Amino acid sequence: MSFEQQQFSQQSYPPNQPENASPPVWKQIQDLLDENAILIQAILERQHSGNPDACQSLQVALHRNLVQLVNLSFITANNNHCLRCMQVSVYEGMFRKLFPTTNVVKVVAAQQWCIRRNVSSTVRPRICIVGAGPAGFYAAQYILKHLDSSDIDIVEKLPVPFGLVRFGVAPDHPEVKNVINTFTKTAENPRVRFLGNLSLGKDFTLEELRERYHAVLLTYGAERDNTLNIPNETLQNVLSAREFVAWYNGLPGFENLNPDLSGKSLTLLGQGNVAVDVARIVLASVDELQKTDITDYALEALSRSRIETVHLVGRRGPLQAAFTIKELREMLKLPNCATRWRADDFDHVEESIPNLPRPRKRITELMVKSLAEQGQNKIPPTGRCFQPTFFRSPINFIGTNGKVEAVEYVVNKLADGRAIPTEQRETIATDLVCRSIGYRAISVDTHINFDERKGCVLNSGGRVLKRNLTGSDQTIDDIEDKYEPGLYASGWLATGPTGVILTTMNNSFGVADLVCRDFQSNTIRLKTSLPGLDLTGRPYVSWNGWKAIDAEEVRLGLAKGKPREKLTCIKRMLQIASNASD
Ligand SMILES: Cc1cc2nc3c(=O)[nH]c(=O)nc-3n(C[C@H](O)[C@H](O)[C@H](O)COP(=O)(O)OP(=O)(O)OC[C@H]3O[C@@H](n4cnc5c(N)ncnc54)[C@H](O)[C@@H]3O)c2cc1C
Repeated sequence: MSFEQQQFSQQSYPPNQPENASPPVWKQIQDLLDENAILIQAILERQHSGNPDACQSLQVALHRNLVQLVNLSFITANNNHCLRCMQVSVYEGMFRKLFPTTNVVKVVAAQQWCIRRNVSSTVRPRICIVGAGPAGFYAAQYILKHLDSSDIDIVEKLPVPFGLVRFGVAPDHPEVKNVINTFTKTAENPRVRFLGNLSLGKDFTLEELRERYHAVLLTYGAERDNTLNIPNETLQNVLSAREFVAWYNGLPGFENLNPDLSGKSLTLLGQGNVAVDVARIVLASVDELQKTDITDYALEALSRSRIETVHLVGRRGPLQAAFTIKELREMLKLPNCATRWRADDFDHVEESIPNLPRPRKRITELMVKSLAEQGQNKIPPTGRCFQPTFFRSPINFIGTNGKVEAVEYVVNKLADGRAIPTEQRETIATDLVCRSIGYRAISVDTHINFDERKGCVLNSGGRVLKRNLTGSDQTIDDIEDKYEPGLYASGWLATGPTGVILTTMNNSFGVADLVCRDFQSNTIRLKTSLPGLDLTGRPYVSWNGWKAIDAEEVRLGLAKGKPREKLTCIKRMLQIASNASD
């Protein structure tokens, strides 16, 4: 008797009956387990007699039985954890016997393979991802890898993919856009369809999606901005950083923004990296920008810009600054631009440095060093100057003839890291203002359970909640009672607009894992095949259509020494895409 056969005969087999399994089903399970035991024995014998080819029909029978077992267990299980555990132990036992190497990793992989095969042998999971930004692509990438019989449609409002990687990330940060290569691989997987130019809430409803897909993952981002809600916010030349970014990055609908760059100063309200991106683009040399994918019209406007001073205003102090060290370094090294800090803002800052955690310590040291050196750095002939200002909250925009001329601020002091307004006021003249106080998601369909206050989909770890859970609700244990079955959200729509692409990736991988596990545990039931979105009469852009747009943009850019010249006219994009074969 071989070693494996010995092991096999020594196993306690079959496992004990789980508490809640009904007697007839348990009997069926036992019969199948017995039959499989004989099959496994026979397969092992043939393998050891040097006749592995003779195993094929036995293995097919074994697989058929395993599939039946999974189905039976699922039917009985119906959220019964006890039986699920049994099912796992059955597989582990069987695969240990079937595959001579008792490497646990292999056993678990084989077990998962079997469960996935079970899914593919019946109904293929059809998943719809709404939004082709990083959250959507990373979720698709994960699901492709871990749910191997699934089909995914990525539905995108615009004719072009990549969300804020294309329309948010600054043009002079091309290395950040390399994630597009990974997204492209995902989109080109035969199990994925990109359906551009289709918008949830306009071209189709959430109800339609839920009827036509086993699972729907909402990843449509955050595309509005927060307002300050202070007097005169609607004055001319008060914009949002979101609009300004969308303008220079070529987001359709923003090409005619025409920000007025004829004045001498720009004020950015907010000190996050988006505000710093805007400051850098406005103060950078046009010669450098023209090598990037910044739109031609923005480049032309920036070449005529007369802006010299950019104020970057934050309500708290240097120790709470929201920009990161990489972005600050870039500003400090910007050619032909000086940085001017206000010495008063740095009272007691230097002495607190030794006690700061490492990242905060490094950025504070850099600010303090730059402040100490600013006397030696003259304002260059361009007159360009970057002026971070702390402890100020805007309370009023002042203007004449409908146009902003100054911002009135309240001076803050800090208490436990929070900004507390004082009686002191300061007014700083400016010609143009961009609020940069965060993006905001919106509800695009009345069936989306949305938290208007936070500006994100109500969810718990990515599962969309049926209602806002409070008090005793939190203890509800039944998934079907608590969550919208098969409905998920990830990325900025689910977490709120914070973090970088890496943060979005981690969040989306986590939610995608939940989706896969919900399929594998039958929480999402695969009763029938589903058709996916009905595309009749809907002029969508396929991946080949996007590739045609991409090729045209690259061709236009080549002539100007740029990586691409982005198209901004949707009609033109659709025209180009319609000539591409599917
Ligand atoms: C100005 C700016 C600069 C940034 N720079 C960097 C950087 O340098 N490095 C970095 O790591 N991170 C950066 N980030 C953060 C990064 O862009 C985000 O982490 C990431 O894009 C969030 O991904 P998302 O998929 O959730 O949202 P998005 O990228 O916004 O993607 C959402 C997608 O959904 C689509 N959509 C919207 N509505 C609908 C609808 N109704 N139906 C169908 N589709 C819809 C949108 O068109 C979009 O394609 C930046 C963010 C901003 C705002």
